[in-house]
Formats: sequence, structure tokens, C-alpha cells
Amino acid sequence: MNDCLFCKIVAKEISSEGVYEDEDTYAFLDINPLHPGHTLVVPKVHSKNILEISEESYKDVAKTARLVAKAVKEALNADGVNVHMNNEAASGQVVFHTHVHIIPRYKNDGFVNWQKTNPTKEEISKAGEKIKKLL
Ligand code: 5GP
Ligand code: ZN
Repeated sequence: MNDCLFCKIVAKEISSEGVYEDEDTYAFLDINPLHPGHTLVVPKVHSKNILEISEESYKDVAKTARLVAKAVKEALNADGVNVHMNNEAASGQVVFHTHVHIIPRYKNDGFVNWQKTNPTKEEISKAGEKIKKLL
């Protein structure tokens, strides 16, 4: 945990451009944004990602993400906003401290959120059945 980049940012051992802070969360500008205003929301208590974070800590993050998303959209006159998480390396997670990306988006900004893989209806239903069994 001591080697965690975002724990160091939360502790202000590494500088960042904070935009919001409360008792449980910190929001700061991404150093390599999709667009200016791309913000990261993190819990102050370390957890790896959504698969590990406590329900309480995730609620704290979700609360701040909602606040920040509205501010980012309005402040930057954006047309929309992505609220996004990468969880585990296979999904694109690089920093292993839970974080939510808040990304301002603009009409025709040219980015696609993900490519479609066109699975069959059967494949889609089968995946749904497997998930339902665990919920
Ligand atoms: P991930 O791919 O893990 O979901 O996203 C990690 C994000 O953290 C990336 O968008 C990256 O640009 C951002 N990032 C990495 N290192 C730093 C840093 O030192 N400071 C800030 N502000 N952002 C960082
Ligand atoms: Zn951490």
C-alpha cells in the first residue's frame, strides 16, 4: 500500500491538481486527460478496485463522482460526461487504487467508448443467466 501512487497523492506526498475533497474522497485532474477537465475520484482509504472496495467506501466515491460529474459538465460547457472505471489490468486498470474517471465529452469529439463485438443472442442470454445465478 505504501507504494501506491494514489495513496501518495491523497496524502499530498505527490502533488496533484485537486478540484474537490471531503473526509472520505479526493478528486483531482488526470495528468494525461482525454480532454481537459478529465478528473479522477478516489477514496482516501486504499482499496484496489470495485471488486475489493467496501460498500460504504464505494458509496462515498459514487457520491463525489455524481457531484464532480455535474460540475465538470457545467464548468466546461460539455455536451455529456463519461463516468468510467477500469477494474483489473484486462480492463485497462493501470493504477491499482480504486478510481472513477469523470470525462467531459463533446458532440462529434471523435471518440468511441468501445467497439462492438456482435455476439449472438444466445451468447448474450447465456452470460445473463450466469450473472443472475450469482446475484
Ligand atoms: P486507469 O487506466 O488505471 O483506469 O487510469 C489511471 C489514470 O491515472 C490514467 O488516466 C493516468 O493518466 C492517471 N495518472 C497516472 N499517474 C498519474 C499522476 O501521477 N497524477 C495524476 N494526476 N494522474 C495520473
Ligand atoms: Zn492506494
